[in-house]
Amino acid sequence: MIKHHPSDELLLAHAGGELPASMTIAVAAHCEMCDTCAEKVAQYEITLSDSAFDETLNVETSESDSAVFATMMAAITRGDITPVTKMTASPEAHIDVAGERYTLPVALRRYYQLGWSSVGSISRARLPLNEGDTRASLLHIGMNGTVPSHTHKGMELTLLLSGHFEDEKGTYVPGDFIILDGSTNHTPHTHDGCLCYTVADAPLHFTKGVSQLLNAVGRVIY
Ligand SMILES: [Zn+2]
Repeated sequence: MIKHHPSDELLLAHAGGELPASMTIAVAAHCEMCDTCAEKVAQYEITLSDSAFDETLNVETSESDSAVFATMMAAITRGDITPVTKMTASPEAHIDVAGERYTLPVALRRYYQLGWSSVGSISRARLPLNEGDTRASLLHIGMNGTVPSHTHKGMELTLLLSGHFEDEKGTYVPGDFIILDGSTNHTPHTHDGCLCYTVADAPLHFTKGVSQLLNAVGRVIY
């Protein structure tokens, strides 16, 4: 069962379309796996559109506004305005990494053709989002793989998409949405291998030793 969910503030910001792309993807993909959060977002969307509607009613419309509105209504009743084409769902998208095939959540389906970099059992594919120091990636850790003990200078979000992993705090299942800040030191390990979506806004800081291997791991993960 999913134990880790986005905060209500994050769900509300998502419903209002206020999140950057990296976080929108994370919350949307979580909601595909979590009915509880999906329902909350739907409820927030209704509340937000209701309050936007109330605001519209309170605004006094100028004469030119009502003229535009009248013209628009006339056009609609004449049938001059073509209805918006229905969006079709994108086809299922798979990614193949380290000999495993995964189906991507709808929120990530446009990113099925990414380039992967690997070090040891860790593979990473960066999403082309251009959000400065904030980097969004798909991260795959092979069977019995471990990420060396580290903390973060900034924020690290991990959304587990497939498989399982564990750290000092517990075991995680697909859908778990984990946000850590610089104060947490952890050593994630996976028995069965896992695929995660990650967002990090600063490089990892390794807490046990500094070596070329750790630096390489750091470059791949961040
Ligand atoms: Zn949830």
